[in-house]
Amino acid sequence: MEIDLAQLPIPDWDFNCPSCAYPLRGLPAHRCPECGTPFDIRDLVRPWTRLRPPRFTGSELPLPDFGSACTQCHGPLTGAVRWACPHCGAAFDPETWRPASEWFIVDNALAGGVPIPLVQTLLASEYVPHAPADEKTAFEIFGGQSITITRLRVPREFYFEVLWLLRQARLDIAAARAAARRVQWRCRRCGARNPGHFEVCWNCQEHAAPPAT
Ligand SMILES: [Zn+2]
Ligand SMILES: [Zn+2]
Ligand SMILES: [Zn+2]
Repeated sequence: MEIDLAQLPIPDWDFNCPSCAYPLRGLPAHRCPECGTPFDIRDLVRPWTRLRPPRFTGSELPLPDFGSACTQCHGPLTGAVRWACPHCGAAFDPETWRPASEWFIVDNALAGGVPIPLVQTLLASEYVPHAPADEKTAFEIFGGQSITITRLRVPREFYFEVLWLLRQARLDIAAARAAARRVQWRCRRCGARNPGHFEVCWNCQEHAAPPAT
């Protein structure tokens, strides 16, 4: 998602002048009208800055692909046209899925196989507000240690967008793995690895197995 950080007038991004703290919204230029200090908006943007509303609120029908499953029959709920499972009819309410706290935690359990550093990159590129949730010691911050972030905090209003982004990322990873499997095959007789376009094994002339279905 593209955000034009240079757009004018400045949207309500909740920035304040770095010199005098004057609120910088609705301004026609990148200069504080109170104290006259020019500023670069990119210096004010932080990973947790809310630059846009979330893509999804959880009230959309048909249900977007949040990767959600019915609690009764475990069937996928994606595409449901009303607030009932398309497979067994059990009622559901996405609002009950969303954590009640102001921020929710994205950890390995929620990410479901998407590495947290990749989640962080994804959220940054999509301008989803986020912050590391791990406690850091002063030694880690000032001691030049590289810190592996294992948990992220995200405002709850972005919960459904995060579910959707994680689902897209999982599908992308699965597609990339499938493509990688397609480009090589292992001979069922001798075990040699063969490029995808070889129809018989280079080592023993065994025919490639028909693709798994
Ligand atoms: Zn100012
Ligand atoms: Zn169901
Ligand atoms: Zn072979």
